[in-house]
Amino acid sequence: MEQQKQDETGGKEECLLCRITYSVYSNFPPMPSAMALNAETGEWFPFDRLKSYSSGYEMAEALGYAWACDCRGRAPKRFNEQFELRDFTGKRQAGVRYRVRAGSRVVAKGVTDAQGRTQRVSTGDAKQVFIDVAGS
Ligand SMILES: [Zn+2]
Repeated sequence: MEQQKQDETGGKEECLLCRITYSVYSNFPPMPSAMALNAETGEWFPFDRLKSYSSGYEMAEALGYAWACDCRGRAPKRFNEQFELRDFTGKRQAGVRYRVRAGSRVVAKGVTDAQGRTQRVSTGDAKQVFIDVAGS
């Protein structure tokens, strides 16, 4: 089982996102008055803090796009989504039986709530998620 993991992470090898992030920000000259933006939270922080991080992943995290990283452990909130089902007229589909698939794997099933929403679904590293709906 350990061996299967090696291909994904290549040991401690970092993904392109982390490597590029690190090479970009670790080479910046000190900019004491500059600020950087965390795209996820909308919070600004001192730009120089980026340079204090030892990995591209930490920088990406600070900038709010670490979710796009491919090399680190799956954060629990990653791809944690809730779907809202509506019909073609835009009407919310409450009480509809649904099934959420990531590829061929069923990751959740149930009945939509009064707002037509599914439960929160953690789809791991899936890039594409499908929803099957049972006819009413
Ligand atoms: Zn990464």
